[in-house]
Amino acid sequence: MKLKDEAATLAFGRKLAGSLKPGDVVTLSGPLSAGKTTLVRGLLGKLGHKGEVPSPSFAIVQPYEDLDPSVWHVDLYRIEDTSELEELGLDAAAEGVLLVEWPENAGRTAWPQALGLALDFAEDGARRLTAEVPPSWQDRWPPQ
Ligand code: ADP
Ligand code: MG
Repeated sequence: MKLKDEAATLAFGRKLAGSLKPGDVVTLSGPLSAGKTTLVRGLLGKLGHKGEVPSPSFAIVQPYEDLDPSVWHVDLYRIEDTSELEELGLDAAAEGVLLVEWPENAGRTAWPQALGLALDFAEDGARRLTAEVPPSWQDRWPPQ
């Protein structure tokens, strides 16, 4: 689907928030500045998060444990070896929702059940969103 501007990406994130279930993993692929963190901002805003949504490139993991469901926002841009993943404590996110930017850096098989979203640049500065929809998402895709 086409996301014509930042507002559209935020709106899509808000819609996706309403479809989330505890235990979900959503991977966000796409180049730098494709809009991955923007989508997460919309999603977290809808779940009631007030304030900033830093890009977790440096911290790698940014938890939002007060939300329902709780959310762990992860950016694996700086991960160089999959062994580093074990140190991140992502198991804590099992009861919540895990949002992963740069999932490729965890290896292809890290989250086989994830909703796989990809953002890319489209014409006129817009973005294109494509999705790999696993069985657990078939009855809630696209989010309403
Ligand atoms: P990423 O996390 O993928 O690196 P960001 O979410 O930080 O990217 O977004 C980078 C820039 O893209 C921001 O300036 C944001 O406003 C812009 N942006 C987000 N979605 C769109 C869109 N659908 N069309 C045009 N610009 C967008
Ligand atoms: Mg980002």
